[in-house]
Amino acid sequence: MITCEEALKVVRSKLSEVKTEIVNLVDSLGRVLAENIVADMEMPPFDKSAMDGYACRYTDLHNDLTLIETIAAGNLPTKTVGPNQCSKIMTGAKVPAGADCVFMVEHSELKSDDIVIFTKDDTKSNICKQGEDIQEGDILINSGAYIKAAHIATMAAVGYAQVTVAVRPSVGVLVTGSELVGAGEKPVDAQIRDSNGPQLCAQVTEAGGLVTFYGIIPDERQATKDAIAQALAENDLLLVSGGSSMGDWDFVPELLVECGLENQFEKIAIKPGKPTVFATSDTAACFGMPGNPVSTFVVFENFVKAWITGSMGLVDSTLSLSLPLAKNIKCKDASRKSFIPVAIDEDGLVAPVKFHGSAHINALTHADALASFPDGVTNLKSGDLIDARFI
Ligand code: AMP
Ligand code: MG
Repeated sequence: MITCEEALKVVRSKLSEVKTEIVNLVDSLGRVLAENIVADMEMPPFDKSAMDGYACRYTDLHNDLTLIETIAAGNLPTKTVGPNQCSKIMTGAKVPAGADCVFMVEHSELKSDDIVIFTKDDTKSNICKQGEDIQEGDILINSGAYIKAAHIATMAAVGYAQVTVAVRPSVGVLVTGSELVGAGEKPVDAQIRDSNGPQLCAQVTEAGGLVTFYGIIPDERQATKDAIAQALAENDLLLVSGGSSMGDWDFVPELLVECGLENQFEKIAIKPGKPTVFATSDTAACFGMPGNPVSTFVVFENFVKAWITGSMGLVDSTLSLSLPLAKNIKCKDASRKSFIPVAIDEDGLVAPVKFHGSAHINALTHADALASFPDGVTNLKSGDLIDARFI
């Protein structure tokens, strides 16, 4: 059995190589950037008015100002502003030569058709200076960033109509268990519905992978081996739910070896999620995950996500904060790192949600985060800090 931290190190040492593709800028949302974004021009490209108002010399602010022209955004000024003169100017227009400030139209009065006065005591310059935001050649976003809407705006501003991103890893999801039926069926006798299949498919998609579901395989050795072999051949990563533990029908770890993979570890010192196997070959990787739904979720969050995002060149960027507890909590066993589902209130206080253990399927639906006990600690008091990883 290896520690949570060691397991994560092993996973990160067995990523698949980042492949890249070019997509249209608007299609890059949610992808991982695979090139540095470099500014092709300075921003603003000229001294620009930040307000609708009047451009003049600061020294003339309190004088009667003669209006000499009106400058719209997109048009060039045609006149230099001289002493006791002003040009009406719109937000985003180029500031005329001679002017060193713009006062807001709300702070102005027309004394006559062409005489303007400033009605306040003082004003800021209200001029965005050429190049103050971006210099030509600046690296604005580094390769490896997770692309959000704000990044798309920046890329558009410096001329990227297309952008190089990491190819999404292909991920197969295979569910084992003779007790399982699909969500569309009514379980009879000792059956239950498969919840891990849909959950894992959703988690893969959220993490940025391209998922294929291989269905529910009964606990039969040959059928499971055949399904594993096929899914491994067709994907960069395979997730197998169930069959990785100590039961008589739990043969996933040995089948992975029979399918040509090398098991890197077969147990992790975490709770829930201990019987997790991670196996790799030169061309593929596989997680065999315990079947209880909360275990599956915790293992995905901590390890599978790191593999998928890492194989796109992204360091897992899930938000994790150290936050104070709303009440005293205990964990029975400090020999493994314990994860519990928690809710976080508007004051940032962490409280456990109702949680009966790894089979408690709906516990996570009320949780904002997974909190983890510090190593070796069994008792935490209200106000103590706990690491909360947002889910
Ligand atoms: P296993 O890891 O296969 O021994 O399964 C552990 C527990 O999780 C058993 O109670 C299973 O019935 C349950 N389980 C296994 N696979 C699933 C699944 N896909 N969806 C929901 N529960 C499951
Ligand atoms: Mg099973």
